[in-house]
Amino acid sequence: MNVATSREAFLSDQRARLNERVAEYRHLDLVTPSGVDLRVVFKTRVSMPNILMALSRIADGTYGECVDCEENIPHGRLLVVPGAIRCVRCQNTEEDRIADKR
Ligand SMILES: [Zn+2]
Repeated sequence: MNVATSREAFLSDQRARLNERVAEYRHLDLVTPSGVDLRVVFKTRVSMPNILMALSRIADGTYGECVDCEENIPHGRLLVVPGAIRCVRCQNTEEDRIADKR
């Protein structure tokens, strides 16, 4: 298998994983009988925009590139977090920035 084919296969798998999450998250209820489910808040408000952005980045060929530093995000991270749009370093910086604004 050449490099181009394995990248195609990887992107195809990632697209399938991302689409599964979109389908799953779309049907989650934010409010349950016991109150607002914070895991659902995280999935729909934090993860979902990144998942949709990741899908559009697969389409435009920039998937796997950090949106901040433009370095390649390691495959291992993309397998665990298919919707990752930043490398770990930039994601930590971003989370610190958000935390500082609170
Ligand atoms: Zn980065």
